[in-house]
Amino acid sequence: MIDFQDRVAVITGAGGGLGRAYATLLASRGAAVVVNDIGGTVHGEGSDTESAAAVVAEIEKDGGTAVGEYSSVAEPSGGEAIVQKALDTFGRVDILINNAGILRDRTLANMEWDELHAVLDVHLRGAFYVTKPAFIQMKEQQYGRIIMTSSASGLFGNFGQSNYGAAKAGLFGFMNVLKLEGAKHGITVNAIAPIARTRMTEELLGEMADHADPQSVAPAVAYLVSEECELSGEVWSIGAGSVSRILTGLTPGYFKHPEKDGPISIEDVAEHVDDIRVEEDYIVPYSSRDEFAKLGPLLFS
Ligand code: NAD
Repeated sequence: MIDFQDRVAVITGAGGGLGRAYATLLASRGAAVVVNDIGGTVHGEGSDTESAAAVVAEIEKDGGTAVGEYSSVAEPSGGEAIVQKALDTFGRVDILINNAGILRDRTLANMEWDELHAVLDVHLRGAFYVTKPAFIQMKEQQYGRIIMTSSASGLFGNFGQSNYGAAKAGLFGFMNVLKLEGAKHGITVNAIAPIARTRMTEELLGEMADHADPQSVAPAVAYLVSEECELSGEVWSIGAGSVSRILTGLTPGYFKHPEKDGPISIEDVAEHVDDIRVEEDYIVPYSSRDEFAKLGPLLFS
């Protein structure tokens, strides 16, 4: 049985929805949990301490250990305070789940800049503000498990969510780089694209909502943040009973040696569109080095 005895988990936006499901599951398996939430609306307005406090009470009622924290992830000082709460209360940080989020959906043509800034601040900058102090602590411990909450909206696309999709795709980039920086310190970094019935998806999921309890996302996330899981740099789509890996593949593509065969022309590209786009024999690079490794033999053999 996978457990989290002596592990300390920080979960942002854990006063409801998915964060609450992660907090209660990890606490039920022995983790001490910092339940962070600003307690605002789905659009990121207002604040209260009630939602996080209620999750703490729920965990404690079931015999678990948790503490509430009410800072905003969207400020560097908030990120510091959230991680400091874990250190002051429990003495370490083993797990960070960047989960806090808001929506300000709008098509690009109609978007106000504050709708862009608010979404980038909470999802993308917020993840930086919390992850940096946590990562520094994890480096000292030589152990850590970090999750970035991405989204199908950013990885695949969803109409009217360019601000949110860009923030969520940004988290994918953040994860790709941080997995490399954490590797030699025992720190793994993975990303998820959840599917769950929460206040955020009330109007989105249609009839799938009945099957998409947030509790069904939590086990795969708990696995990714467990000591048993050494995977890093993965993106998993999780929800409604399904767990899949999302891959970034590099196709074999078309190659013409710049010196031996002459420069690629526009017509060369047009003639080889099918080769460029083929969905077979692709590789899944772990880092940008793998792309160079693919190109090297073509150029130098
Ligand atoms: P939710 O609205 O129930 O949870 C988000 C939580 O984040 C809220 O409790 C909110 O108060 C908190 N929060 C917002 N701004 C904050 C801030 N500045 N500081 C601290 N806390 C803040 O929605 P959810 O569906 O549980 O979303 C959780 C995460 O999963 C979000 O990042 C969301 O974008 C992502 N996500 C959800 C789905 C889904 O199907 N529900 C799909 C893709 C991605």
